[in-house]
Formats: sequence, C-alpha cells, structure tokens
Amino acid sequence: MKKFIRQNIDHQPIVDNVFKIVSLANDAIAKKGKENIVNATIGSLYDEDGNLVALDTVFNTYNSLDNRTKAKYASSFSGNPNFRQQVYNWVVQDTKLDLCHSVIGTPGGSGAVSSTILNVLDEGQTLIIPHIAWGNYKSMATIANCKVQAYQMFDGDAFNITSFKETCREVMARQGKVLAIINDPCHNPTGYSMTVEEWNQVIDFCNELSNEGPVIILDDIAYIDYSYNLERSRDYMNAFNRMNDQVMIVVAFSCSKTLTSYGLRCGGAVILAKNHEDVRSLEILMEKHARASWSNIPNAAMENFVKVTTEHKDEFNAEKAKYVDLLRQRCEVFKKEADECGLAYYPYKEGFFVTLKVEDDDLLTRFHEAMIAQDIYTIKVNKGIRVALCSLSIEKCQGLAFKMKDILDSL
Ligand code: PLP
Repeated sequence: MKKFIRQNIDHQPIVDNVFKIVSLANDAIAKKGKENIVNATIGSLYDEDGNLVALDTVFNTYNSLDNRTKAKYASSFSGNPNFRQQVYNWVVQDTKLDLCHSVIGTPGGSGAVSSTILNVLDEGQTLIIPHIAWGNYKSMATIANCKVQAYQMFDGDAFNITSFKETCREVMARQGKVLAIINDPCHNPTGYSMTVEEWNQVIDFCNELSNEGPVIILDDIAYIDYSYNLERSRDYMNAFNRMNDQVMIVVAFSCSKTLTSYGLRCGGAVILAKNHEDVRSLEILMEKHARASWSNIPNAAMENFVKVTTEHKDEFNAEKAKYVDLLRQRCEVFKKEADECGLAYYPYKEGFFVTLKVEDDDLLTRFHEAMIAQDIYTIKVNKGIRVALCSLSIEKCQGLAFKMKDILDSL
C-alpha cells in the first residue's frame, strides 16, 4: 500500500482537530447568525467587529514596495543581510548579549522551529516539549523521524523547573544530547510567561547538564510582541549571558504575529552560542536545508519587515499597542469572571489564548462537546480547553466564563 513513499516514517495523516471545529463554528454562524455563536477557535488577532486585523502600518508599507522588490528572489538562502541584521536587533532590542550570533531567514516561526529540530537532532532522537503545547512541535518531530517527550509546564502557578530538569536528565542519559523547546513569553496556549528568575534557573541547569553532553534550548517567541509590558519583554534574555560554551540557544521569531502578516511566511532563527564555530556549524546546516527545501523566503516580506520596524517603527508600535491593549481588556473580562465563578484556568499572564484547566480526559471531551451543543466553539488541547480571546470581542467575552462554568457544573 505504501510502496511509493518513504518507509521509515509515521504514515498517519494529519489529525486536524482545529480545522474540524472551525468548520463546525462556521456552519453554525451561517445557520444561526454570528451574534448567536461564540467562535473562540481562531488563533489570529481579530478586531471588535469580528474582522481579521491587518495592521495599516504593515500593509501600507508593503503596498508601497516596488513590484520588482516583490518579484525578486532573495539575495541569499539564509535571508537578505539587512533582514538578518534587523531580526537580531528586533529580537534582542536593548539586551546586550555577550554571545556570538547568526540569523537564518525562515518561512515563519514554523520554518525556524522545524529547521532547528531537523538540523540539531539525528533520526530516532527525542525532542523535549511542554506537556501543553502547540501541536505542530510533535508533527515537526515526527517528520524528522524523532520522538517527543514532554515536561510538565506548571507547578502550581509557576514554571515546573523540577519536571523540566527530570525530563532533560532522562533524555540526556539516553542520547547524550538535549534539544528542549520553551515557548516563552506568551506561551501558546496558556498565556504563561516565565519570570527572569525562572529563566536563570533554566540556564544554570543547562550549564550543569552540559557536563554530560550538548544542550540546545529552542525558545519559540512567536507571540513576544503581544507582551503586556513590551519594554520589559526581552529582559529574560539577559539570562542567556549565563550560558557556557556547551549550551546553545536558538530563538524562533515569527513575523506572522508581530506584523499580523501570517500569510507572508517570514521569520527567522536566531542562533546564539559562546563560540563562533558552533554558531557557524548550525548556520551551515540550516542554510543547506533552506536551499534544499523552501530555497529562499519572500524578498518583499523581508524588505517590508525591515522598513516597518525601522522607518515606521513608532507608528507601527502605536498601532499594534491598541490591539495589545484590546487583548488585555478581553482577557481581564474573562479572567475576572472565571475567578468569580471558580472556573479553573492555567496561569495566564499575557498573549492570545487562555486555557481552561481540565485534567480528566473524559470530562474534557464531554465539556468540549457540551459547549459546542450550546454554540460555544473552543479547541481541545492536552488537559485543557483553549479559548482564543484574540479573536473574540469584549462583548463576547462578557458572561462567557459564567456560561462555561454552568455547562461544566451540569456534567
Ligand atoms: N510557534 C507557535 C507557538 C505558534 O502558535 C505558531 C503559529 O501559530 C508558530 C510558532 C509559527 O507561526 P508562523 O509559522 O506563522 O510564524
């Protein structure tokens, strides 16, 4: 049956639960009208009228680019030099990193994460991920013929450093190398952001563990530019300066969320290490991988990022700040009501989603289905329900936690 295709790989088709629920929600909207449906499935930023946000500062700049800029190939497989430089500047901002670095342009944050997995791990090795996580990490590991092992994200309301350490130690003992994903700040789907102290503990532990083999941390910062305190959002990166020469960090940056330009497929992998040769070794593999897969990323998307974040930086920041504030208002409404009625959710600090805490798998499925029956559409994740407040108006957020709690109590 599978004779025409790769043998040594998982052949199961993608199970796209999100797509299924999104289409159920859309059918319900078509039948009953959007005012009667709560569609908390969409993981992109929507305005108060229910329209996708496409920032004017971003797309007016894009539209002003010369057609030839849009037509052209990028100048290199690893991205245009000015783009690579500006991604580094944007990612670290005022943080002074005492580390060697390189940036590889990638198609979105997805390209940065998948290229890191593929070029750091050998087939059959294990990628470490959080137990509640963006589903694609697992798909990316699978296509690289790697396994995944999860650490528990939380210990009460804090990052579970004990579980992180245990998981890393186990994997290190097995394969003599660790690649662990930390999706921070604004973790998808819980909205947790680690403290600087938690990051210090992570890096100190990586240094210790690196006596047994190389340690690579993949910090996925897809939602960083929706931090509520943007000026302090990069403070944790100071912890990176503590790492020794057996530790490497790859920061996966995405223009999709930062610029609301999901479809322009632009992002970057920022490689950080003490020694230039170590940075260069991963850079070479990533560049070859780019050449052998997507070749190069859209020239105009790169040029646009550079222009928006330099020439139009202040207007762009001001325009985006309005939406960050909107997100904050939506989440405050939802959280206040959830606290009032005792609806449990994972520790939320900032970001696109709040995730309800439901640890019993059977109850989780029944709760999710019962909400759908009441026209509340959400996404079921491991041990929880993801509520995409990024795409719900403040009005729709009002009373939502109460309704959810009533449904949960009725089960
Ligand atoms: N990381 C996380 C946690 C995400 O949720 C996403 C997108 O939803 C991405 C990375 C990558 O997005 P993109 O490839 O569009 O940049």
